[in-house]
This record gives sequence, structure tokens and C-alpha cells, in this order.
Amino acid sequence: MDLDTDLEMAHLPVVSVLGLGGTIAMASSGASGEASQDSSTPGVQPVLEAGALVAALPRLREVARVRARSLRVVPSASLGFADVLGCLEAARVEAADTAAGVVVTQGTDTLEECAYLLDLLWDRDEPLVITGAMRHPEQPGADGPANLLAAVTVAVARSARGRGVLVVMDDDVHSARHVTKRHSSSTGAFVSVDTGPVGRVHEGTAVFLSALPRQAPLPQPVPGADPRVALLEATLGDDGELLRLVAQGGFDGVVVAAFGVGHVATATAELIGDLTGRVPVILASRTGAGGTSRSTYGFIGSERDLLARGMISAGFLDPRKARILLWALLAAGADDARIRATFAAHGGHPDLRDRVDH
Ligand code: ASP
Repeated sequence: MDLDTDLEMAHLPVVSVLGLGGTIAMASSGASGEASQDSSTPGVQPVLEAGALVAALPRLREVARVRARSLRVVPSASLGFADVLGCLEAARVEAADTAAGVVVTQGTDTLEECAYLLDLLWDRDEPLVITGAMRHPEQPGADGPANLLAAVTVAVARSARGRGVLVVMDDDVHSARHVTKRHSSSTGAFVSVDTGPVGRVHEGTAVFLSALPRQAPLPQPVPGADPRVALLEATLGDDGELLRLVAQGGFDGVVVAAFGVGHVATATAELIGDLTGRVPVILASRTGAGGTSRSTYGFIGSERDLLARGMISAGFLDPRKARILLWALLAAGADDARIRATFAAHGGHPDLRDRVDH
């Protein structure tokens, strides 16, 4: 979609909207305007280009001169690392070409993972803002237009510069480092459990309420690198068989979503040392909030035991984010020392990092 050339808008900043698909871009194939909840109909699918999302929202013209293009039009479950890296490159090109900020619209299912990978690699000051929708455009109370307007509002805000990648949903502004989808269908699905949102769009303005320290961008992935990182969750009655299968699977790294502050069953613990000798194995908590511990419990399968067997603590990173960080490090060719140091820096709660590192 071409940039609006209306002279009255000449003073407004330019924002680029890059579309990847998702519920915000879905419609029923018949496009009758009324989506049915009837399971005999085919249901909605991603079909709307980013330009159509922008054209359907005239209010955007009060905030920015928007140019839009779609990179993919897919459900976010079908996005891959290459799509996110392609999006990163496209966002860089847009920012270098006069955009004050860039907005990415995508499905919410993998939004937290895509946003975190972008955040690890985004090396510019312009805001890169990710948004989507929980209700598709044919549902009453569809949230896509409000989310897109709020995201563009944040993208043009000078106070959003230098904050890395931000996720805007339901008028909350989250840091990509902390946000997670915690509800399958609510419009308030996105939360930053450990920190709360960093800001809010209020009466048409982005208001930042807190500032989280920004990490330096990671080294860029080696072109074509696509390490395979498994994520495996500890469950009741675990006999270690799943880890044994993963160990045979030829993965380049493994993340274990462990119980509580970082615990697994004895049978699994006894297999860990074998795996840590070959590939990085990350210890994260499956609970969804809080960090893994280092020094509290001492039984076989406890965090002390697992760290002594060579696992690397994810700290306050949840298992999915830990997997993204490990992927990015492996894709950049990081060695064991670099992987450990980066997890210590990125996994530490800002206020605890000094204690955790010593
Ligand atoms: N339900 C998802 C969404 O909110 C579908 C997807 O992730 O593509 O967009």
C-alpha cells in the first residue's frame, strides 16, 4: 500500500505496518460479513492483507502516514524462525527508510515467541511494536482495529524509542521480554506476570509507567543456520523415557520446563548428565511465573542437583522464551561459555542479577 500523499497529513510521522496474518487478518471464505459459530462451516482463515487492515481503519490517518505490506498471511502456528528473521530484515529496511516506527500484525498464538526473538535481535532505536487480535474481524467487539490503532500510537511515540520490541494488546504496552499469552480467548490474554505492563495507551497517547533495562542486541544468526531446540515438560509420573527419546533425537539444544523452581523426577535427573555433556540443556520453570532457584533444594532432581549436572538456569525466562534465546545463541554460533553468560544476563531479574551472578 502506498504512502498517503494528502498534504494535510504531511506533518505526521510515517509508520510501516508489516502483516504476517493471524486472527486480525481472518475472514470467512464466503466473506458474507457474518461469521458463523456453526462447526459445519469452514470457519475463518487468514486472508486479509496488511493494506486492507489499514484501509479499514480511517482513524489511523489522524496519527500517522501509514504504509503497509504483507510478508505472510498465515496462522501464526505456521510461522517459523525464517519468517521472523525476514520480518526483522523488513522492519530494518522500513526504519532506515523514514519510518518513525514499525508495527507488525500477526497471530497471537506465537506472538510472544516472535516478539521475543525480534527483541533479542532488534538493533535500532525506532519502536518495533507487535500486535494482533483475539477476536476476528467478523465477531462483535472485534479488537483488531483498536489494537492496531494503539500499536501505531505507540510506534510514533518519542517516549517509545530505545525500548526494544513492545507488544501492544488491549491498550496495554508490554516489553517483549516479559509478555506472555495467558488466556486462550480473552481480549486481555496478554500479561507480563513478573513485571506488569511497561505502559498504557491512554486517551490516544502512549504513557510509559516503568522502564526496564534494555539488553544489548545479540549477534545476528549465521545466514541459513536453523538449530533444532527441543522443549520438554516435566509431568507427574515421569520415568525419563521422554528425555531419553529427545536425547536420541539429534537436537542441538534442549529446554526442560521443570516443576516449581526447577525440579524433575529422579529418573530424568539421572539421564541429564549424559545430555549436558553433548548439548546445552536449559532448566526453566513450567509454572508460568517466577524464576528457577539455584541453591535451595538438595535432593536428586532438585535445582542444585541439576545445575551440578551441567544444566543452565533460565532464571526468570519462561521455557518458551528460554528456547528462543537458546535458538538465537546457537544460530549465531555461540559456544558454551557465551551461552551460560547470556542466560545469566537475560534470565536474571533486573534487581536480583547482581546476587545471582556472584
Ligand atoms: N488465534 C490466533 C490469533 O489470535 C490464530 C493465530 O495465531 O494465527 O491470531
